[in-house]
Amino acid sequence: MEIKIPAEVTQIIDILESAGYEAYCVGGAVRDSVMGITPGDWDITTSAKPYETQELFKDFKTVDTGLKHGTLTVIINHKPFEITTFRIDGEYGDNRHPESVKFTPDLKDDLARRDFTVNALAYNKRTGIVDLYGGQDDIYNSIVKTVGNPDKRFNEDGLRIMRALRFSAVLGFEIEKETAVSIHKNKDLLKNISVERISAELTKLVCGKNAFNVLMEYSDVLSVFIPEIAPAVNFKQYGEKHAYDVWEHICHTVDTIPQEKTLRLTMLLHDLGKVPTHALNEKGNSTFKNHAGVGGEMAKDILTRLKFDKKTVNRVSFLVGNHDFEPPESKTELKHHLKNKTPEDIRTLLTIKKSDRGALSEKYRDISAGTTQTLKWLREIEENNECCTLKDLAVTGSDLLKQGFSGEEIGKRLDTLLDAVIEGKVENTKSHLLTYLL
Ligand code: ATP
Ligand code: MG
Repeated sequence: MEIKIPAEVTQIIDILESAGYEAYCVGGAVRDSVMGITPGDWDITTSAKPYETQELFKDFKTVDTGLKHGTLTVIINHKPFEITTFRIDGEYGDNRHPESVKFTPDLKDDLARRDFTVNALAYNKRTGIVDLYGGQDDIYNSIVKTVGNPDKRFNEDGLRIMRALRFSAVLGFEIEKETAVSIHKNKDLLKNISVERISAELTKLVCGKNAFNVLMEYSDVLSVFIPEIAPAVNFKQYGEKHAYDVWEHICHTVDTIPQEKTLRLTMLLHDLGKVPTHALNEKGNSTFKNHAGVGGEMAKDILTRLKFDKKTVNRVSFLVGNHDFEPPESKTELKHHLKNKTPEDIRTLLTIKKSDRGALSEKYRDISAGTTQTLKWLREIEENNECCTLKDLAVTGSDLLKQGFSGEEIGKRLDTLLDAVIEGKVENTKSHLLTYLL
């Protein structure tokens, strides 16, 4: 099989081979190429020692990404390429970092240290694909399987547990039986892994096309770092509205929302607030008073703990906190929402609602009429610059000051005027508004 390699990679391999070393593309780029996907980045593995690579590329722009561990990044045409020396990882003392790495002249050893068979493929034009662990078969059979004994491999580096889940979700692959059993058994190893790395994998996982199956099968693994998930699994919801328990409902909503980070994380967390707010009403149906608000706080806690960036934390907790938003019954009601939400917020909340309702029982699923109507009103409001916020109001605080109002009274009066305009009780002109106040 021939793989199409970018010119820069060919150039790098040529330079290394001309100097008498072996060099191959390796890992994800080969995997993606075999799958017919255009790789995001290309990694090169070589028999040249780090300082030898450095010498060969001294006329290029390079970045020392981790020469100690064998990696030099070469920049060609503004694109980075990681060149790593064939290596054997030493003992793993902390389930994450090998205490030492040993360079080796043998590609075989380098492939043996790689996590999954599908990632343990190397390729160059001269040799073709080097596949010592059945990686190509596993690609064709859509299987994620560790290279070698899974217990041993996960104990070396616990992050591989999340990587397995991520590859399964993103590539749509099944995790092989023995690997899967080992993941469940060794899940607590994730406690030794930095949350930043876990979060990066979690984000890719939830954005994957196969996230549903992974979330359903591995909720115990996610619960290691999001313990709020465990009680949601099999948490029954009583009443004709519901089709699933809380966790299964969540998984369906993640599955149906567009594959974008904020939306996917929002759905993952949106109903965790149901567990602490659950009660049964006199008919025996579940109620979840203020579960959105409670969930918004939980989302904030969880994402902060997992060290997501502030923007993501705030946006997701806002969306979770407001996911009880329903398509409004009237344009006036919509305008009341727009007092403290942007049109963009409303559109996003509609997207969320569609997924959320889609995972209720049949009768409650369709909100297309309400959505279409809301979008139409939104467009009208935007096109006509209809007044919905304090800054659209034809009077300001200083106008009221001049009228003799002061302190908190000013804010209150402005709110009253805004509500009156939204409800059509007064025209939004300065004279009408000031008269209305009398
Ligand atoms: P992508 O770049 O699409 O996320 P990838 O497979 O290229 O996927 P990288 O994290 O870029 O993943 O790693 C490149 C390669 O390095 C992998 O394909 C794998 O061979 C190896 N590798 C990365 N992380 C590990 C790990 N924790 N344990 C063992 N091998 C790993
Ligand atoms: Mg990669």
